[in-house]
Amino acid sequence: MKWKVGFVQYEEKTIRSEPIYDGSIIRVERLTVELPDGRQATRDIVRHVGASAVVPVTSDGHFLLVRQYRKPNECVSIEIPAGKLDPGEAPDTCAMRELEEETGFRAEQVEKLFSMKSTPGFSDEVIHVYLATTLLPGERNPDEDEFISAFAVSEQEVLAMIRDGRITDGKTIAGIYSALDRMGRFG
Ligand SMILES: [Mg+2]
Repeated sequence: MKWKVGFVQYEEKTIRSEPIYDGSIIRVERLTVELPDGRQATRDIVRHVGASAVVPVTSDGHFLLVRQYRKPNECVSIEIPAGKLDPGEAPDTCAMRELEEETGFRAEQVEKLFSMKSTPGFSDEVIHVYLATTLLPGERNPDEDEFISAFAVSEQEVLAMIRDGRITDGKTIAGIYSALDRMGRFG
């Protein structure tokens, strides 16, 4: 197979947008688009306000994770602390707020690791992922409808949890590896 070189037209122009659902966390739109070759297609898109997540690493090198029930997959999920942006909230402020609310530890500052598109196939959600390495005692304050518990695991344990499928959340897997990269583990 030969790789294509040169300019390729990829853009899909929006012809029509039909609102399907307007909820508290997401909005769903059905778009009719014109493909580069002139044909039309339908795209169902979930609009999301965006979120921040944070990889908290304790002074003795443990990772703080949270356990909570995830209704879409009907399972208890082990993840890094995260949550959606409040209106007008900066992503780093959101990361620090979610860290304290969900774990009871706070960080006076966080450093940006990366931003990721969680599911570009059907949603515009972007998650901003941060690293927090200087943790101080704070105040746990989960949302009213959030049943969540925090726990600490070693670097070896968190990697084992990713390998054996105890951790399956995308932002958590990417966040842990990126944090290890930032901490110089990959040379
Ligand atoms: Mg959360």
